Amino acid sequence: MDFAISEKMQVIIDMMREFVEKELIPMEPDFLTRPFSELLPELEEKRRMVRKMELWAPPHPREYGGMGLDVVEFGLASEVLGRCPLAHYVFGCQFPDAGNNEILHKYGSQEQKELYLRPVVEGKIRGCFSMTEVDTPGSNPVMLTTTAVKDGTDYVINGQKWYTTSADGAGFAIVMAVTNPEADPHYRASMIIVPTDTPGFNLVRNIPVMGHAGSDWASHAEILYQSCRVPQTNLLGPEGHGFVIAQQRLGPGRIHHCMRWIAICNRAFDLMCSRALTRPIGPDETLSNKQIVQSWIADSAAGIQAARLMVLHAAWKMQNLGVKEAREEISLIKFFVANVLQQVLDRALQVHGGLGMTDDTILAYFFRHERAARILDGADEVHQMSVARRILREYQGKRVS
Ligand SMILES: Cc1cc2nc3c(=O)[nH]c(=O)nc-3n(C[C@H](O)[C@H](O)[C@H](O)COP(=O)(O)OP(=O)(O)OC[C@H]3O[C@@H](n4cnc5c(N)ncnc54)[C@H](O)[C@@H]3O)c2cc1C
Repeated sequence: MDFAISEKMQVIIDMMREFVEKELIPMEPDFLTRPFSELLPELEEKRRMVRKMELWAPPHPREYGGMGLDVVEFGLASEVLGRCPLAHYVFGCQFPDAGNNEILHKYGSQEQKELYLRPVVEGKIRGCFSMTEVDTPGSNPVMLTTTAVKDGTDYVINGQKWYTTSADGAGFAIVMAVTNPEADPHYRASMIIVPTDTPGFNLVRNIPVMGHAGSDWASHAEILYQSCRVPQTNLLGPEGHGFVIAQQRLGPGRIHHCMRWIAICNRAFDLMCSRALTRPIGPDETLSNKQIVQSWIADSAAGIQAARLMVLHAAWKMQNLGVKEAREEISLIKFFVANVLQQVLDRALQVHGGLGMTDDTILAYFFRHERAARILDGADEVHQMSVARRILREYQGKRVS
């Protein structure tokens, strides 16, 4: 394994870091106090600057106007972009479009690529991914109840979804619905593209998450599909292959989420160290003199370092041996990094005292929104269980002395 950063990547990372520090972090006070939709004109201007620097759409295919970075390279880019919650959006590689684009590129028909992939990579429209339901467990998606029934040349979709991130203002949703109810559980569902102006696509509300409903890209919606009719040509990939495709989407996606979380850890760590050194706590001492704070700093440094190396190793394995071979590593990083993130954020917030609870720093925002890390992309417990089962299988019938 070689995790050395190429000269080309180092230049890209340095440019990204400078842009994030100079152009985006100063926008955070506005981001924290105003609706996201009000920031769109300014964000569009920043996007123009990013395009001019030729740093637009880092993970997306070159033939559609992206930079074509591979899994490891985009992971390294995410480690910089994740420092600010606006950066992935401004660089044209925001969730959930990054994942959607991967599957549109791999499974989309030529027509679907022109209608959805190209305009998303160009930044003209956004998409969303609509799988989780209100009444069935996201952790066991084979229990999905949303249906897509064939009628003439159409599918008619009925069901109630929520946590469809960024549905507000999106041009289309990729919907997971049961098309083959009699099939083996993992071959019952399909992915179907639904333009959001289709009658029967009803955005009920943006769900308040930790007290904030958000708007536009920065939101999570509840959606009611009511006799929502789309042509069968909107099927993405083969019928009944929804879960197979979802696995493809989640592999590289988890690497990028984890590297984004490491970026957040690093930002929180910087704030924690800086606050510890400058906050007086007695006549001749600052918080940094306290042993418990030193212990938090050392433990955080170790956790971040371990998490980073684990993610790079998983990315390297996925890139060289494929998603299937890297399954265990991908599960390990999902819950390990999510927990490091939570610990580091908690310590940084604690060091800031009352200030940490306000929106005068970015910490409270990260604390609210990144709590979800342990739930989304497969709840931690699901990954822990599947890793443990796989490990135990290897010990079955084995004599250990
Ligand atoms: C901020 C955010 C954004 C999201 N964005 C999207 C999106 O864009 N599109 C989308 O489709 N979904 C999205 N989701 C939904 C997410 O994928 C689900 O919340 C997740 O899969 C968990 O499903 P659930 O909420 O139904 O929890 P459940 O499946 O009901 O699980 C509840 C809890 O039970 C525990 N648990 C579950 N299974 C086991 C087990 N086998 N053993 C032990 N404990 C277990 C876990 O602690 C879990 O948190 C998002 C969620 C959040 C919070």
